[in-house]
Amino acid sequence: MSRETSILVVGSVAYDTVETPFGKAEQVLGGSASFFSVAASFFAPVNLVGVVGDDFGDKELAAFKGRPIDVAGLERAAGKTFHWQGKYSYDLNSRDTIRTDLNVFEHFKPRIPESYRRSGLVFLGNIDPALQRSVLDQVQKPRLVACDTMNFWISGRLEELKKTLERVDILLINDAEARQLSGEWNIVKAARVIRAMGPSILVIKKGEHGVLMFSEHGSFAAPAYPLESVFDPTGAGDTFAGGFIGYLAGAADESDDVLRRAVIMGSTLASFCVEAFSLDRLVALTRAEIDERFRLFKKLTHFESL
Ligand code: AMP
Repeated sequence: MSRETSILVVGSVAYDTVETPFGKAEQVLGGSASFFSVAASFFAPVNLVGVVGDDFGDKELAAFKGRPIDVAGLERAAGKTFHWQGKYSYDLNSRDTIRTDLNVFEHFKPRIPESYRRSGLVFLGNIDPALQRSVLDQVQKPRLVACDTMNFWISGRLEELKKTLERVDILLINDAEARQLSGEWNIVKAARVIRAMGPSILVIKKGEHGVLMFSEHGSFAAPAYPLESVFDPTGAGDTFAGGFIGYLAGAADESDDVLRRAVIMGSTLASFCVEAFSLDRLVALTRAEIDERFRLFKKLTHFESL
């Protein structure tokens, strides 16, 4: 029997206003599901579930057109689209949220279209953990369930989140979230505690310091690709997830080699995301550019043993 390669993603589709030391972008396309979908669509068909308001235009939808991204599950509700505004520090390593206008996202209840229910992989973007579980309740058991979350849910809805994690195979979070979720400062101990909660694969994102993956095969570390011009880090985490899960969707298994290549593919896609505001670089990206940077990544990290 052939493996089902389509990926169901649930998350925010947004208008972002972003200020970095290099400029400002106002009311541009953002949201975790947007970055994830475009990145993953290079490797596998994507089934997008989210909500937008009646202000969401064809210009924004164009980012999803001409790619294997099904938007039948992108609901349109009366009101305004979710809006997030953030401002980055000079070194781009930290950001302040200036405002979050939930708008139509406040009452979002993911409804999974019939045609999506047999998706082989599911990516649960950063939403209420109870809603994440409601997504799993509406689909046939997928091959892999991946999940993102944030400090807001770890501190406010820990018990709900733990129930969700029991049904998750892959958790992608940053190092501060891993410490908060586990109660352990040491990242290796934190990984052990979190993996005991359910996810057998844990990917810890560390921004410009790269990624650490823990699985039954042991651990794997990848740097971020060294870039001369980093313009806007917004969406890098979701883009990483899109490249990582997208690569796994098309792979024959989840062996250690496959997981390592998936981490590098996620890092490759994320390195393009940060080169421009919004999804501007991702929508202009070609498969040949991806393959070339993936190859450079191998060169970057390769060394001969003694
Ligand atoms: P990242 O930089 O990977 O953390 O993702 C940033 C994206 O997440 C932006 O495009 C925002 O629109 C979106 N975002 C910010 N805050 C939230 C939130 N509370 N819930 C869902 N999405 C959010």
